[in-house]
Amino acid sequence: MVRYQLPRLPYGYDELELFIDEQTMLIHHKKHHQSYVDGLNKTLEKIGGASHPQYITSILSDLQLIPEEHRKDIVFFGGGFENHRLFWETMNPDGGGNPTGKMSDSIDVYFNSFEDFKKKFLEMSLSIEGSGWCWLVFNRTFNKIEIMTTKNQDSPWTYNKTPLLGLDLWEHAYYLKYQNRKNEYIDSWWNVINWDYVGNRFSELSV
Ligand code: MN
Repeated sequence: MVRYQLPRLPYGYDELELFIDEQTMLIHHKKHHQSYVDGLNKTLEKIGGASHPQYITSILSDLQLIPEEHRKDIVFFGGGFENHRLFWETMNPDGGGNPTGKMSDSIDVYFNSFEDFKKKFLEMSLSIEGSGWCWLVFNRTFNKIEIMTTKNQDSPWTYNKTPLLGLDLWEHAYYLKYQNRKNEYIDSWWNVINWDYVGNRFSELSV
């Protein structure tokens, strides 16, 4: 039986402090992310071991594998698990700056410039009503990058897109420090993005 565990945070809870405060990081990782891990394990237990031999991204990509009555929980808890796992990895205390290499080239091709990309990302992020995520994804079908939003904990994998970078726009991600100032949270986030990680992920996927 596959059991998922809370992934280790790749840096200290206080290390993004100027942009995301320690208390938010602590609660977000130890409480919220843990609850998705627990919910996912519980759901998989109910389904039984035989029907889910694959890693969660494969399951989210092909929900037909999961008995219908459990699909909603897999989408929520499995998405929550994987969305947050990627979210932590794509941030770093030494992050920020500009994307480089192929990632930068592709952003220029599809969004004109990094500045225009950030504007579009902000606009899409602010368009989310309620809880959700804004993503930079790789569209494998058309071999291009796109910005998309998902509701709740829906994963881009379910929409046949590979997430490269995602921003958590649930209130729990920013409310303690930024309250209703969602645009300040989004602006701050650019300062902690680990473009090396995002760029490597993109290089591995695209040909
Ligand atoms: Mn979250």
